[in-house]
Amino acid sequence: MKTLKSILVFMLCCTLSLSLIGCTSNEKTEPTQPLTKTEVIIGTVCTISLYDIKDVAILDKAFTRLKELEDILSINKLGTELDKVNNMSGKEPVKVTNDTFTVVAQGLKYSKLSGGALDITVGPLVKLWGIGTDAAKVPSEEEIKEKLSLINYNDIVLDETNKTIFLKRENMIIDLGAIAKGYAADEVAKILTENNVKSAIIDLGGNIFALGSKLDGSNWKIGVQDPEDARGASIGYIEVVNKSIVTSGIYERYFESNGKKYHHILNPKTGYPYENEILGVSILSDKSIDGDSLSTTLFALGIEKGLEFVNSQPGVEAIFVSKDYNLYLTEGLKNNFHLTSTKYKIKI
Ligand code: FAD
Ligand code: MG
Repeated sequence: MKTLKSILVFMLCCTLSLSLIGCTSNEKTEPTQPLTKTEVIIGTVCTISLYDIKDVAILDKAFTRLKELEDILSINKLGTELDKVNNMSGKEPVKVTNDTFTVVAQGLKYSKLSGGALDITVGPLVKLWGIGTDAAKVPSEEEIKEKLSLINYNDIVLDETNKTIFLKRENMIIDLGAIAKGYAADEVAKILTENNVKSAIIDLGGNIFALGSKLDGSNWKIGVQDPEDARGASIGYIEVVNKSIVTSGIYERYFESNGKKYHHILNPKTGYPYENEILGVSILSDKSIDGDSLSTTLFALGIEKGLEFVNSQPGVEAIFVSKDYNLYLTEGLKNNFHLTSTKYKIKI
């Protein structure tokens, strides 16, 4: 169980990897001030801001949906659908709702596409490290070896007709931490759109969905966090209309042991956090589930392979922030990223 302290630390760490630019304190007193609600759900701070239709009932519907998704997709709660699938590993298939089936199918798709760099059966390793909880520790080599043997996305059996999920081997665990927030953002965007909202920001712990455009019809400006600076300090911004922007990085969820930092994106081949040149990678896409899946996938692949991979995916763009202060942008972003920091350079 997480303590309040760790939840608060996590809240502080998660909120501002991407931020809305141009929301000054002056604006907050003007009629353009949004109707906003914030709650901690799915292990992170979720904020929804409505700019045009300011209806509390719409916000309530959106938060009810988020809680519903947490209740079926979490591995941090007992009795969720995913928990049942994991408990029945090696025993029998479990019938699930469309939500669980869709997210696991998407996770399996990216596990295959990435050749296992992203692997949603990484759960035993995630639990072993406990990164983001008070129990975080560097495991022993033996412990890691034992858990690695349980990771293999090829051992997930999906039955589309009967909507069942089966994990072939006992003690396997599916963890949807890398992709489910994206699905949740899409579901909230769907609810807002069904209720005629045309101007809103959905922020699920840095998974941002900028719905429609700003009230005056202009583009949203979304800042990309400087990983080494104060929260909210950005490297630059992108202008978007109706897009998802998701970031994965090493600066949000990590712990330190003997002077070394261990972040939360784990290499299913070695059992240790990925060690590469990336501080963070942000994805611009139409669907947030794609952005969330891709942000973790590209982080795992590294800059060179990641750029190659993302260029093969239609309709998505990426910004890599490297440890040597370079920014690597996909073609479609080269004219739409506004660099404001002097510390970073755009690598051509
Ligand atoms: P991302 O890059 O999107 O994902 C990283 C996460 O993916 C890791 O934290 C790990 O869970 C998983 N992962 C690591 N390596 C790999 C890999 N190689 N392949 C695939 N997946 C990998 N956190 C809490 O602390 N308490 C909670 O109660 C809690 N409840 C949650 C409930 C739900 C339904 C979900 C989806 C998540 C929950 N979380 C909880 C986790 C948290 O909200 C975030 O999902 C998590 O911190 C990662 O999000 P991210 O965007 O920072 O990183
Ligand atoms: Mg992700």
